[in-house]
Amino acid sequence: MKRWVVCLLVMSSLSYASPWERVSTPSTAPAQSVGHYANGCLIGGEALPLDGEGYQVLRSQNRRNFAHPSAIRFIEKLSRQTFATSHRRLLVADMSLPRGGQFSSGHTSHQTGLDIDIWLQLEATPWTKEQLQKPKPQSLVDLDYYTLKKDQWRPEHFELFKLTATQPDVARIFVHPVIKKQLCELEEGDTVWLQKVRPWWGHHYHMHVRLHCPEGSKDCRGQKAPPKGDGCGSELASWFPRSVPVEKPKKAVQTKPKPRPKKIMPPQCEPLIAQVSN
Ligand SMILES: [Zn+2]
Repeated sequence: MKRWVVCLLVMSSLSYASPWERVSTPSTAPAQSVGHYANGCLIGGEALPLDGEGYQVLRSQNRRNFAHPSAIRFIEKLSRQTFATSHRRLLVADMSLPRGGQFSSGHTSHQTGLDIDIWLQLEATPWTKEQLQKPKPQSLVDLDYYTLKKDQWRPEHFELFKLTATQPDVARIFVHPVIKKQLCELEEGDTVWLQKVRPWWGHHYHMHVRLHCPEGSKDCRGQKAPPKGDGCGSELASWFPRSVPVEKPKKAVQTKPKPRPKKIMPPQCEPLIAQVSN
């Protein structure tokens, strides 16, 4: 391909990037998560090292392996603990951009360095660089029948969810309703930890771990605690269709996606992208 064509392609792909995606390094001030998970930024972020104990980083080429330093310590500890008991590795997917902030597509949250996606494949053998850069997700849920893929479920999944939810740093874990149902059924003792496990669409091959605002981040805005109780009863039932198999929706008429409402960014975030916004 001619060099100018390549240049044009690079320029056009860059023009779709948000200002936050065009910054490749974290800022150097003391660490602060600023604003809300879905409207904020990250000062003094840290990268999750690519070669850690008990985990591997997916798609590091996208530079979404940044987070608040306390979140980095959290993942390192969770991975070490998981590996020590199961000899399986966590596959850590998107966290935040080097300075947090908005993505041009995909996530609405993950903006403050406190949201972490972890795939649920629990690998015993380390993945190659090629596999990590172009990973293939493996769902735990049969989405047509709304049932668990029993051949994919491992006892280590239950242990991972319970270990994660019982960490004091964790505010919520988002996961597909079918997976929450399985956790509810397996827990024979105290179900209090299941309060933090929140059913949400899409999370059938990964879990999304959301941490509380870290100490010292005075401009960080957390979220109301989840409703009281373990959520295993009527709340969970409301996520399930009344009969299975689920009728496939008729082909939807293509409509223009509604533009996301413009949010007012916390003023502390603006200087982080001052050089690339203009
Ligand atoms: Zn996520």
